[in-house]
Amino acid sequence: MRFEYSPAPESRAIVTLRDSYGLFIGGAFVPGSSVFKTISPASEEVLAEVTHAGPEDVDKAVAAARQAYERTWSVMPGRERGKYLFRIARLIQERARELAVLETMDNGKPIRESRDVDVPLAAAHFFYHAGWADKLGYAGFGPSPRPLGVVGQVIPWNFPLLMLAWKVAPALACGNTVVLKPAETTPLTALLFAEICQQADLPPGVVNIVTGDGATGQALVAHPGIDKVAFTGSTEVGKEIARACAVSGKRLTLELGGKAANVVFDDAPVDQAVEGIVNGIFFNQGHVCCAGSRLLVQESVHDDVLAALRRRMGTLRLGDPLDKNTDVGAINSRAQLDKITELVSTGEAEGAARWSAPCPLPDRGFWFAPTVFTEVSQAHRIAREEIFGPVLSVLTFRTPAEAVEKANNTPYGLSAGVWTEKGSLILWMASRLRAGVVWANTFNRFDPSSPFGGYKESGFGREGGRHGLEAYLDVTGSADV
Ligand code: NDP
Repeated sequence: MRFEYSPAPESRAIVTLRDSYGLFIGGAFVPGSSVFKTISPASEEVLAEVTHAGPEDVDKAVAAARQAYERTWSVMPGRERGKYLFRIARLIQERARELAVLETMDNGKPIRESRDVDVPLAAAHFFYHAGWADKLGYAGFGPSPRPLGVVGQVIPWNFPLLMLAWKVAPALACGNTVVLKPAETTPLTALLFAEICQQADLPPGVVNIVTGDGATGQALVAHPGIDKVAFTGSTEVGKEIARACAVSGKRLTLELGGKAANVVFDDAPVDQAVEGIVNGIFFNQGHVCCAGSRLLVQESVHDDVLAALRRRMGTLRLGDPLDKNTDVGAINSRAQLDKITELVSTGEAEGAARWSAPCPLPDRGFWFAPTVFTEVSQAHRIAREEIFGPVLSVLTFRTPAEAVEKANNTPYGLSAGVWTEKGSLILWMASRLRAGVVWANTFNRFDPSSPFGGYKESGFGREGGRHGLEAYLDVTGSADV
């Protein structure tokens, strides 16, 4: 039986868009060298004009951050810094609906996800790190770990506000000041966050936000006034940044791509596993670095799992991201849609069998139907490369050892999932999977107290938890590291 849903659109009235946004430097919005437009990927409507920061604007932002670091933030007691972080966390909660609607408008993700995942988790990161600000001396890094200085942070478009929170909250808690560059296609929630910093009376220059494109990011990471670089994005750009930071003395953490295996054993409850597979690859349109984009299913249950998966995919609702019933929103940009389309055609050309959910696509905007490929071999590009879209590649295995070998057969190592009722098998698998996070009988679960990060080409360094603090502290010379 198929239910028909009436439209349930979330109102846009809560968001007040300005026609034009400046750069946030030294606690104020200031003009920059040129402007660009940010659009809604669901309708291609122009949302606002945003300032492009050139090298001289980056200079000003770094100078403001340095001044705030030296005069205010690094000398402020941790308990005082913590109060600002608590205030920011509460303001994120108070303005949660506004942030969620704006995120959905600028990014294209379903409101159900921005409302229930992105924004609450962003607030949770500030709450969690607020609690650390006055306890750093008890975190196991010695009695008085020191901040690093000015941090340059570059974030991607898939979780704009949440990635900002992952970066800004620990940096500030540890006593650093930041210059952050949001992605070109999703700058608006970072600019609303700048307003929240003003509302929280955060001292000017502690957080600076420079909008722009890759060139702005390049100017920021190469700036000699930066002490540490934190980057989330593609492995290709991550490698470029690692080269730019080499021998500069800058500390660096990189959170890059992934090609995670979601491993389903024959004793797993099929319906629960199917929910996990769907959440693993279709959450956020598959624009997730830790997405479960390779399904490894035990051969004996392959047909049952695939039949249940196709049935479930047939019920996914694709369309207006502001509709509260929508499961799959818009692809973030035309460039990303082109990349997904190209990789999917190589899958077909290389002989894999494609099945896409039979959902109508809207006429305007960027859309891709949830898609699954079977008859995939490990050599196929769709099994090796990060597609970063709603596309799942299915492979099979017979034994746990074969599952481990296939799961680890990737240059990446960010995450993995295991579905079985045997606890011993979960532990056996988890100790052999070369992935920063291993989920058992669930997928895509995040918590600020749990460290997140990769192996191999998925990057290095951890974000979240006590491990994440270390990336923002100078712990050299501490006795009990
Ligand atoms: P990028 O890695 O290019 O973008 C990430 C961020 O880095 C953006 O803010 C970007 O700016 C900025 N940037 C780009 N070039 C440079 C540079 N040379 N120096 C410093 N900063 C730079 O990702 P894309 O948006 O181009 O996506 C391409 C692919 O990367 C995706 O298809 C996906 O496979 C992968 N990806 C992985 C992510 C992850 O979380 N692991 C996140 C995003 C993408 P701007 O947006 O203005 O270009």
